[in-house]
Amino acid sequence: MIGSERFRTHVCADTSDGEGQQVRLAGWVHRRRDHGGVVFIDLRDRSGIVQLVFHPEQAEAHVAAGHLSPEDVLSVTGTIVKRSAETVNDRIPTGRVEVAVDAVEMLSEADPMPFPVEDESVEVSEEVRLTHRYVDLRRSRGLRALELRSRISSAIRGSLEGNGFLDVETPMLTRSTPEGARDFLVPSRLHQGSWYALPQSPQLFKQLLMVGGIERYYQIARCFRDEDLRADRQPEFTQVDVEASFVEPEQVYGVVEDFIVAAGAEAGHAFIAPFARMGWEEAIRRFGSDRPDLRYAFEIQDWSEQALKTDFAVFKKTVEGEGVIRALVVPGGGAEFSRKDGDDLVAEAQSLGAKGLVWVVVTEDGSLRSPVAKFLEGLDADLGASAGDLIAMVADEEMVASTVLGSLRARFPTRYRMEPEAEWAMSWITDFPLVDWNADEKRWDSTHHPFTAPKPEHLEMLESDTAAVRADAYDLVINGVEVGGGSIRIHDRDVQQRVFELIGVGPEEAEEKFSFLLQALKLGAPPHGGFALGLDRLVMLLAGEDSIREVMAFPKTATGSDPLTGAPAPVDTAQLDELAVESVAPEPEPEA
Ligand code: ASP
Repeated sequence: MIGSERFRTHVCADTSDGEGQQVRLAGWVHRRRDHGGVVFIDLRDRSGIVQLVFHPEQAEAHVAAGHLSPEDVLSVTGTIVKRSAETVNDRIPTGRVEVAVDAVEMLSEADPMPFPVEDESVEVSEEVRLTHRYVDLRRSRGLRALELRSRISSAIRGSLEGNGFLDVETPMLTRSTPEGARDFLVPSRLHQGSWYALPQSPQLFKQLLMVGGIERYYQIARCFRDEDLRADRQPEFTQVDVEASFVEPEQVYGVVEDFIVAAGAEAGHAFIAPFARMGWEEAIRRFGSDRPDLRYAFEIQDWSEQALKTDFAVFKKTVEGEGVIRALVVPGGGAEFSRKDGDDLVAEAQSLGAKGLVWVVVTEDGSLRSPVAKFLEGLDADLGASAGDLIAMVADEEMVASTVLGSLRARFPTRYRMEPEAEWAMSWITDFPLVDWNADEKRWDSTHHPFTAPKPEHLEMLESDTAAVRADAYDLVINGVEVGGGSIRIHDRDVQQRVFELIGVGPEEAEEKFSFLLQALKLGAPPHGGFALGLDRLVMLLAGEDSIREVMAFPKTATGSDPLTGAPAPVDTAQLDELAVESVAPEPEPEA
């Protein structure tokens, strides 16, 4: 990592045990302190920090040191000396030594910084951090995230290559793949009026590679989706994309588990494979979510039978009318639970789609406190709730009751400061429905994507009992975050046609958009399946960050813009003319 001796012979971290050695170092001025005559500079490079000391006897260097500003870039020569016992600094690895400088060369003078690099406790708005991301990256948080990301990527590559996967690049300028988002389009100059799409994922190419006999493919691939941005979404992101031939889901799980274990080891975590596997139906029933956070053990319970025996009309009517009563016991949630908290919880459940919510607190003396307590005798014993617990109940059709409680379940641990039972909980969620009913458009949509295979034993009910058809599709969930998903693919042309028809892609549209795939399926397609993992999310989790932006070198803001380069930006009319594209957008407002 040294570079040229013209600038340095060692990096800062090398100095920790080099007492007496002559060294040349290069880096940034991290901090300066003048101690009546002696000047101290903390010099920083990627490896760390070392203290430089400038004594008045080295007049030229000493004068130069007096003029240094934070973040100037220097090269210095000097001797490593031991610090006296009282000045040892145990907080940094080089804290037992310092470098007595005899010459300084200024390599680049820095203007005042937009925010301090050295004092990381100074909070800086994201807009300012991203505008000067190259300054932000000098702070230890950014550097640590990128170092970890690099190590994780290489561990993943090592694991996949060890399992026989070939790294193959696929095109960025391509035709759109339906992954459920809008495409970013690129106009073609040579074929005016025609457009490329940036890939939402390499899905179809990796399937074609299987038809091409590659058998095991991977790529750390950039993907582009023009979605409305949410907290942890970015318009471009990175996937660890894999595909393998002659596999069933278990072999895909094994390959992915291997590389997740390797990635975890880079962050100091000893993950243990195989991970849990749970069917989608069970996940919804027990946790109300297809990405349950299994670090917490509390589960949704059914109280429908018991509700029939009560005099509580709302509950009884719901159960008599094919609905259910579902309940969630929140350990310790009732300790300081006020009536107002109850009203807020009801409103929250309504905003999630429930008609209402019943809350019950088990008080210290074991009695129940709730606006409808009188109807609920024995509830605590039925549900295994004890003093101090909160019970949240929803009466509705099964899917609504489950998913509303599931959303609350995801929020409760932070709200009620619950202790997780484990630091990490990973699970495969398997056997997703093949399609979901889109009530607005009155049609079936693919749950995963249209190339996902129905379970072989469900093939015959594809058209007759569509809602019940399950797919060989799976997601990997870590600590309540869906880090990736995949499926076994359709490798039979007729089945692919039937699935297209089911989701409303008629023969003509299929031919126009996917003739190359349908053709390939006719020319010797092996059974195959795969998976894609969101690398940004995995690194975020392993780095203990709560946003993927913290683990990307140059992320975009929540509105999809890049304050550093100013992208997206208007282009010259001449550029548009060459592409035969006309912009009808209103002129952008001049900057105030
Ligand atoms: N292409 C899918 C996605 O990006 C993943 C897969 O099915 O392998 O979600």
